[in-house]
Amino acid sequence: MARIHIARGGSVIGVHEEHAVPALVALGEVRRTDHWWREGMRSWERVGATFDAPRPNPTPSPATPASRPAPAAAPARPSKPAGHLRYTCLRCQHRFAEPKVEKEGSFLAELFYWAISPVAGGFYTAGRVLGTKHLCPRCGSEQLNDEPW
Ligand SMILES: [Zn+2]
Repeated sequence: MARIHIARGGSVIGVHEEHAVPALVALGEVRRTDHWWREGMRSWERVGATFDAPRPNPTPSPATPASRPAPAAAPARPSKPAGHLRYTCLRCQHRFAEPKVEKEGSFLAELFYWAISPVAGGFYTAGRVLGTKHLCPRCGSEQLNDEPW
């Protein structure tokens, strides 16, 4: 991985792995108005001009806002066809077809991360999707059995 230098106001403020930069930008450690350079480059580039663009293969980084598996690793859970499951609540024995769906995090935070960078937004959205809970509509329990119709 290429190590890149970040400069602000004419002096180098840090050296980071290139793949970590979008997350650092999202966290505010590196500003879009900072400049970056790596060995072999003729001149410094503005961070915002380079690291805002969605990258073809965003690499997961421990510094991302939602420290969860990256979107690339997301389709681990096999998706069952919606509407073909019947749920039984293990707490109140209520049977139902439509569970209450609750997502982790907040929609405002999601907007915020998307506004900063598509990479940060992507991580946050993936985290929310992975953290989605299905709850019993009667008692709110997460302890559900599901079975096909
Ligand atoms: Zn219940």
